[in-house]
Parts: sequence; C-alpha cells; structure tokens
Amino acid sequence: MSEYTAVIGLETHIQLNTRTKAFCSCKADSWNEPPNSSICPVCTGQPGALPSPNAEMIHKAVLLCLAVHAEVNQVSFFDRKNYLYADMPGGYQVTQNDQPIGLGGYLDVEMDNGRMVRVRIDNLHMEEDAGKTRNENGIRLIDFNRSGIPLVEMVTKPDLHSADEAAAYLIRLRRLIRWIGVSEGNMEKAQLRCDANVSVAPAGSGKPGRKCEIKNINSIDAVRKAIVSEIERQTRELEAGHEVEQWTIEWDNDARELRKMRSKENAVDYRFFREPNLMPVVLSQEQIEAWHEELPELPWVRKQRFITDYKLPVYDAGILTTERDLSDYFEETLNFYGGDPKRVSNWMMNEILRLVNESGTSASGLNIRPRDLAEIIQMVDSGTITAAVGKDLIDLVQQSGKAPSRIAAEKNLTVVSDEGIIRGICEKVVSSNPKEAEAFRAGKETLLGWFTGQVMRETKGKADAKLVGKILKSMLTGR
Ligand code: ADP
Ligand code: ZN
Ligand code: MG
Repeated sequence: MSEYTAVIGLETHIQLNTRTKAFCSCKADSWNEPPNSSICPVCTGQPGALPSPNAEMIHKAVLLCLAVHAEVNQVSFFDRKNYLYADMPGGYQVTQNDQPIGLGGYLDVEMDNGRMVRVRIDNLHMEEDAGKTRNENGIRLIDFNRSGIPLVEMVTKPDLHSADEAAAYLIRLRRLIRWIGVSEGNMEKAQLRCDANVSVAPAGSGKPGRKCEIKNINSIDAVRKAIVSEIERQTRELEAGHEVEQWTIEWDNDARELRKMRSKENAVDYRFFREPNLMPVVLSQEQIEAWHEELPELPWVRKQRFITDYKLPVYDAGILTTERDLSDYFEETLNFYGGDPKRVSNWMMNEILRLVNESGTSASGLNIRPRDLAEIIQMVDSGTITAAVGKDLIDLVQQSGKAPSRIAAEKNLTVVSDEGIIRGICEKVVSSNPKEAEAFRAGKETLLGWFTGQVMRETKGKADAKLVGKILKSMLTGR
C-alpha cells in the first residue's frame, strides 16, 4: 500500500445575527415563529420588489474580515447568481462574486496536542440565505422565514489535511464569530454550516488530486464523519487504479452517509452579473479603521494573557475563554475579589459553569453576579462560612438574586465555631451511633471521617470542620 495525503478546503456559511434581513426590513431571527410569518415581496423574490442593503450586515461582515486579518475592499459589489430552485423564487441569489467584501487573511487553529495550523482565507463575501424546504407526505413545503437572512461565506485555501483539522477549524471559527458578536454560530439552527472540498493524492506527488465537494454539513460530528469517509472512498479509488471523478456529494444527515448529487460535467452555469438594484458597497478607510477599533481582544490573545498575567494553568485559561462573557465574568470577579486568580478560576469552573449548564443561559444571564461570587469566596477565605455553605450560597443567590451576606444572615449560615454547641452535637451523634463508636475504638480509624460527616449534616455544613475533628477524636478515644 502506498501512502496518500488529503487536502481539504472549507466553504463556511455564517448567518449574521442582524436584527433585520439583508435587503428588506423583515425580522431576521424568526427561528421560533410560524412558517412564512416574517416575509415580504423582497425576500420572496416578487417581480419589481426593490432591495436595500442592511448597514448592520455590512458592519458585521467587516468585523469578521478584520478578525481574520483579511483585507477589506473599500469598494465591493453585489451580484446575481442565477439558478432555479423552489426555495429561491426570484430565480437568483444575491451574492458577491468577483469583488467581495474581504480578501485573504488567515485563522490559526490549535490542535489538541498544541500544534498550530495556519489556515489561509481565500475570500469572505456577503450573500443572502435561501428558504427552507421540507417534504411531508409527498408534498414539498417551503418556509421563507430564512430567505434573505444575511450570510458571510468564508472560503479557505486548501490548507487542511485531515478531518480533525477541519473540525478544529470549525470549532475555532464558531468561537470567534460568537466572541466578536457577529453570529450565534449555532450549528443545530444552521447558523453555521459548511461545504467541504476534499482531494487525495499519493504522498510526495507534489500536486493535489481532483477534488470532490461535500455539501450541506451541519454539525462538527458530521464534518468529521463526512470527510473521513470521503478520504477513504477516494483512497480506495486510487488504490484500485481509478481516477477520482469530480463529484458534488451530499451529506445525508439522517442516513449519516455520503450521496452523489451530480458530476462536475453537468455543473450549473450561474451566469453571474451585477445586481442592478443595489449600489456598490463603498467604505472609507476611516470607517474601516473605526470598526477595527471596536474589535474586542480575541479569545486566543485573552487566553495567553490569562496564562501570563494571572499564572492560570493552560487548561483553566482555555475553558475560561471559550465564551467572551465567561471571561468577562472571571475578570470582573477577580477585580472585586483581589486575591489569587486560581482560586476564582476554581469556583468559576466548578460552580459557575455548573449554573451556566443547568440554566442554559450564558454567564452574563445568571442572577449571581461577579460581585456576589467574589463576596462568597471572601467569606470562605475569612472563615465566616465553610466551603460547603459557600457552594449552597451560590445556588441561593442564583435562585433569589439577594446578596450573599444577606442570605447568610437571614438563614444563619455562618460558621458555628462555638465549642459548647459543637460539643453538644458531637455527643448526640456519638451516642446515637454506638456500633460505629465501638468499631472506631476497635481500630477502624477511618470512621472519624464518617462521624465528622454526620456532625456536618446536623449543622447543615456550618460547623468548623477542624474543631469538629478535634472534639470527636478526644470524645471517641476518651483522651
Ligand atoms: P472551484 O472553482 O471548483 O469552485 P475553487 O478554487 O474556487 O474551486 O475552490 C473552492 C474550494 O475548494 C476552496 O475552499 C479551495 O480551498 C478548495 N480546493 C481547491 N482545490 C482543492 C483541492 N485540490 N483539494 C481540496 N480542496 C480544494
Ligand atoms: Zn422581507
Ligand atoms: Mg469557486
């Protein structure tokens, strides 16, 4: 068997999270609305309807270009891409063909083992989304709510070499677009989806093989599976001495397999021409620079800063920079707290992330605010409450929205370090568990932990654990 290498280029569609659609004033976010409730003559392709471009779309497209170091064209054009499809009733899609908004740039992708892969960008262009079709009992149903939602298509150079690299690229891109606030990047809602171009050639042959294009991939898992099976298929063809034919292939998400759509021979001719109803997009250098200033510190830069400035472990820094508002939450808490960053990181990763997952919101949507978390950690540090109570307190603040100190006072949660009270509880626990006490005296010393646990339960986690251990030990050993 000879060795083969794969080459992959991705064309990714990113739905921008604008308030209205690309060329009309229909609401763009209509995911939860009834079919065809957010439509008008423009986004359903009625003859004579006149489009006008959405400034928010252009702004967000430019932010994305700048975030991937692309060159922003000061003049770009909209073009018609002509083809007939049921969910495209105008008979064409408005896109940018030969002079798109962004050219060049790159995205650096970090693999699990820390290896960096630089993926160069060919271009970024704005276009409108199509409607959605669904077959039901032999009838084709079309929902135009999605029709006209603004997209940026980001096209890479063929710089990826495995399914894992392609998946890592998409994960990285998803993090970026959410971070800079241009898209929700939710693949389940098709706000981020991609076409993968794949070719395989004998290793060292110096030139890539003939590529096939896989359409319609809508999850990270599907990207991996589709590319792996396409690489296998092309490798088998080459091994058998065949040439790879240039196909367009569809990823069938239900069957989880590839299906040939068409050969490139009968590829469609789109007869591109300038969209006559839209002006060129003209941007001044000052405007582009002003937008550049708006870009937040990017996630990988922030991660590195967390490692360098706060001495956080790489793992912590990675988790705390997956979402922008999680990093903001961390840094705000740290500002209020003023102590060891690693301590804040531990509480974030254990407790705040748990709340984020349970509540299904992001960190900024939680009732418990950075100031509250900082206060709770300080209360634990100073011995006012135990760590166990601190954890409960986090839930109580989240449920009630009240300040931690107020809840601690109202519910009497502060540490019980009164020796008399603790001694009383210890006596009760020891006398009501004579068997365990006997076993302890017979040498089963691990039972001390169990007794301590019982006392903590009686005091709802409020007892000073060190004191409890000391009292129990002398009580049980009689010394
Ligand atoms: P086409 O003209 O067929 O549309 P392009 O040159 O525009 O091809 O490239 C489309 C996508 O295919 C890009 O993402 C590009 O990186 C990728 N691509 C180009 N050549 C190859 C190849 N040999 N193998 C894999 N992907 C490729
Ligand atoms: Zn509309
Ligand atoms: Mg092309």
